[in-house]
Amino acid sequence: MSSSNAEAFERARRVIPGGVNSPVRAFKAVGGTPFFVAEAKGCELVDIEGKPYIDYVMSWGPLILGHAHPGVVAAVRAAAERGTSYGAPTEAESDLAELVCKLVPSVEKVRFCSSGTEATMSALRLARAFTKRAKLVKFAGCYHGHADAFLISAGSGALTMGTPDSPGITEGTTRDTLSLPFNAIDAVREAFRAHPREIAGVIVEPYPGNMGLVMPRPGYLAALRELTREYGALLIFDEVMTGFRVAPGGAQEREGLVPDLTTLGKIIGGGLPVGAFGGRAEIMDLLSPVGPVYQAGTLSGNPLAMAAGLSTLRALQEQGVYAALEETTARLVDGLGEVFRRHGIPHSTSRCGSMFGAFFAAADVIDLESAKTADTALYARYFHAMLERGVYFAPSQFEAGFVSLAHTSDAVNETLAAADDALAAIARGA
Ligand SMILES: *Cc1c(COP(=O)(O)O)cnc(C)c1O
Repeated sequence: MSSSNAEAFERARRVIPGGVNSPVRAFKAVGGTPFFVAEAKGCELVDIEGKPYIDYVMSWGPLILGHAHPGVVAAVRAAAERGTSYGAPTEAESDLAELVCKLVPSVEKVRFCSSGTEATMSALRLARAFTKRAKLVKFAGCYHGHADAFLISAGSGALTMGTPDSPGITEGTTRDTLSLPFNAIDAVREAFRAHPREIAGVIVEPYPGNMGLVMPRPGYLAALRELTREYGALLIFDEVMTGFRVAPGGAQEREGLVPDLTTLGKIIGGGLPVGAFGGRAEIMDLLSPVGPVYQAGTLSGNPLAMAAGLSTLRALQEQGVYAALEETTARLVDGLGEVFRRHGIPHSTSRCGSMFGAFFAAADVIDLESAKTADTALYARYFHAMLERGVYFAPSQFEAGFVSLAHTSDAVNETLAAADDALAAIARGA
């Protein structure tokens, strides 16, 4: 065991590339040494040096109920007592599948896997098989996991690390992925005109949260729905982040739109590794063993993961949960906006349900290009000043923040006071 974060990081770096198992965790965009977590409860993380932080990363989205929620912990513990994996079906899988089909408007049938990456990768394979076409349209700054086809102008860690187009991906894959600017419907129209019978699907984060939080222009998502229908391509909503987050039925419920396929992850696993993809039965039944499209997983539908997901989704069914989340988020984001204004810092904030974003940028952020105008050096100083004051925001401006039901108004007040103090210290050059 290490006695400090620095020592733990040194140790990790000797045996794990960069010391982390997912790039953004390394703090590369903001500099410095990442903290190593000892434990977490509610909205608070404690590092191995014993320092507590109010957490707005929340495992990057899954923990909408907070860390170590008693109901989720009890469900996982009870499932573990009955065995951790069987490689044979359990009724918990049908319980969760029924709930997902009920909640998410576009989903008639769903298949579980173990990550969002697997979900989007499988949805793309399915879209290609269904349409018998090869090309994929995606949007710059959207992140759909780390499968080859999506790592063209990708968001999240790929964007933060400056590797939106990763080496190791073949020319053939690159040729089949058309990356277009988000929020520019004319670019999509042009792509369909240029390739009227080649585009299998359009994948989009309906509320992109992997270049910071960027909201779609009014009518943009509806226009994507119309264009895909017109050209016989599938519309894939990647709701790995927004699913069960912005509404019980995700962004598609808020927008009143029905995509052909939906990918899910994060909240659906309640903090355990789960991904899922679903849609119309006629498309989903192309999957093996009914149809010819192969997809599988040794730990898919894992009983611990199903238990965590089920107890999380059930807790979210309680009356008033989403209104409470939205209210806390509004207090936080409006409060932060006020603090930034008071300190004369150009900014652009956004929020939706319990997701939020804050760019240190003068102009409105509508796509990747405008997101990149944000002041990353100032963000790095702000991030560290907040961390010092016990508040953990994402270690990159190009990530959404998350509020959970465990974030109290005291925690929000403490955060706003810390932000005020942090920016005053930065202005003094401290
Ligand atoms: C997190 C995320 C993914 C990838 O999920 P993993 O579980 O990290 O593989 C895909 N799409 C979106 C929108 C995400 O936010």
